[in-house]
Amino acid sequence: MKTLKIAIQKSGRLNEKSVEILKNCGLAFENYKSSLISTVTNFPLEILFLRDDDIPEYVQDGIADLGIVGENVIVETKAEVDYLQKLGFGKCTLKIAVQATSTIQNLEELNGKAVATSYPVILEKFLTEKGIKSDIRTISGSVEIGPGLGLSDAIFDIVSTGGTLKSNGLKPFADVMQSEAVLIGNKSIADNPEVAELLQRIRSVLSAKS
Ligand code: ATP
Ligand code: ZN
Repeated sequence: MKTLKIAIQKSGRLNEKSVEILKNCGLAFENYKSSLISTVTNFPLEILFLRDDDIPEYVQDGIADLGIVGENVIVETKAEVDYLQKLGFGKCTLKIAVQATSTIQNLEELNGKAVATSYPVILEKFLTEKGIKSDIRTISGSVEIGPGLGLSDAIFDIVSTGGTLKSNGLKPFADVMQSEAVLIGNKSIADNPEVAELLQRIRSVLSAKS
């Protein structure tokens, strides 16, 4: 019997809930902060602890059979994977925001404007669908400081409470995407009986909760 591999986030917003759902499925494993791989002792499964950004491609390429990651990261990496199950945690909204003093009223006004983001693929897709051509500036973090520094006219980022926007003199302008953690699978594992068993256990954990 082949040992399956599931990739989850090593540390960050999705780590704790990912570990929790696997434990609630009755899987027994050590969760040492220092180890990158952990063997489940009562199911043919290994857990890989990775940066969330790497998870979709690892699953696409079959290095991991399964993964738990935010939908935003799947879309952003353009990975070709199966969406097996939404998991109900890690919920967030990706929004375009502008300076609180901005007079921008509608999306068309973003034509020709600079928008800073760490999610250029999602943003480009959205703007193209709306027929808008902005100057997308990809930066890896702290996009909220862009407008204040004159780096960009707007930003596109994950917003949860809006507190970070506010403290940087920004206001939400348009919702682009809702995201939550999902269980993804490699395209070739659909008929695997262990995957089916795991999926069934995850679904019963989720339905016991709701
Ligand atoms: P890593 O070190 O693994 O690359 P990271 O810093 O890129 O981690 P986190 O901030 O831990 O990522 O966020 C992981 C995911 O959690 C996001 O991609 C998103 O799907 C989800 N998420 C939920 N709420 C938020 C939030 N308020 N801010 C950022 N991400 C959120
Ligand atoms: Zn990341």
